Amino acid sequence: MRYSLFGEKLTARSGILQLMEDLGHALARPGKVYMLGGGNPAHIPQMDAVWRSRMEAILRDGDSFEHMVADYDAPRGKESFLEAVAGFLREEYGWDIGPENVAITNGSQSAFFFLFNMFAGPRADGTTRKILLPVVPEYVGYADQGIENDMFVGARPTIDTIDAHTFKYHVDFDHLVIDESIAAVCVSRPTNPTGNVLTDDEVERLSDIARQNDIPLLIDNAYGMPFPGIIFSDVSPIWRHGIILSMSLSKLGLPGVRTGIVVADSPIIEALSGVNAIASLANGSLGQVLTEPLFRDRTILTLSREVVRPFYERRAAQAREWISQYFPADLDYSIHSSEGSIFLWIWFRALSADSAELYRRLKERGVIIVPGEYFFFGIDEDWGHSRQCIRLNYCHNEQDVRAGIRIIGDEARRLSA
Ligand code: PLP
Repeated sequence: MRYSLFGEKLTARSGILQLMEDLGHALARPGKVYMLGGGNPAHIPQMDAVWRSRMEAILRDGDSFEHMVADYDAPRGKESFLEAVAGFLREEYGWDIGPENVAITNGSQSAFFFLFNMFAGPRADGTTRKILLPVVPEYVGYADQGIENDMFVGARPTIDTIDAHTFKYHVDFDHLVIDESIAAVCVSRPTNPTGNVLTDDEVERLSDIARQNDIPLLIDNAYGMPFPGIIFSDVSPIWRHGIILSMSLSKLGLPGVRTGIVVADSPIIEALSGVNAIASLANGSLGQVLTEPLFRDRTILTLSREVVRPFYERRAAQAREWISQYFPADLDYSIHSSEGSIFLWIWFRALSADSAELYRRLKERGVIIVPGEYFFFGIDEDWGHSRQCIRLNYCHNEQDVRAGIRIIGDEARRLSA
């Protein structure tokens, strides 16, 4: 079978696809598997109960169910849902937005595919532009989304040592280069894989720089404020003209309904809905219908603050506690300051092999993590740090996380100089 360049690019066996398949095979093998890999959020019983009772209410409510499953929505999303989301954000945070500033996509992953390719790549004037990632490591799900090769330019962050076992990445504004070749700046906040949350000041500076260069700043808020609110530090939700804010219902507990929510200036929303119409016709309605009343009565805020955030904050603290308890005293490790998301990012400073080798050895012992290499894309220089980190998802079964952490400490010690 011969494919086009587009087809070849998208069907190429990306590193992360191979890794995900490998994870699948590892899970299917006999013997105990400790799953600390993957990006699935937890099943929080209170959240599962909310979705079940919402679904029961829809089934009882006249012909709501039939409308939900038997009508196409407009490509931008369900009008009443766009109004509910815009009203919620305007009234709670004073943002200058209306429904014309909101578009729905089938998951925020699709939104990034559309947005990256709308802005970056070859232009009519013969130039080619790229997406700047101001802090790498960054979400691996972006890495292969460019229709053109080499769509990303990543910037190395500065590393702030907080204490013997904690560090934090910061944007290195002194070395951040934005010139004519940059189409947009993009950052996930909280960051997958590190749990980093850019400070309000960093976001404002990035937004100012983007505005001065007349390019958008994309903020991937999949774990952020105000929902699902998996942020443990004191920061504010930020949107202003020139920012494209992407949100998602996935980490609230609805990854299966595929609902991404994009807030941006209205011309961008209009353009995005045009792409949506071509690629998907319309979006799935389920996520919108399930959550619309929660936006209207603000239950979405209460659930995020009182159920989702405390759940993950407790689990993150617990995982860090097990690390300090079980990692050997002479193991040289540092954890990225855990400020949000569902991951811990661990740096083994004295690793004598790369983290891919650590991944292989851990897999042999039934422990699944994600090696850090994959998250360092868009940078050409050789950076030893990129081979010394792993990502650990702490939200699966607690006993497995605990046992997995013990084995990680043991194996990392064996592999350390
Ligand atoms: N952005 C980040 C940082 C993510 O971690 C994920 C999923 O894990 C996504 C976007 C995509 O999420 P979804 O397509 O489920 O909205």
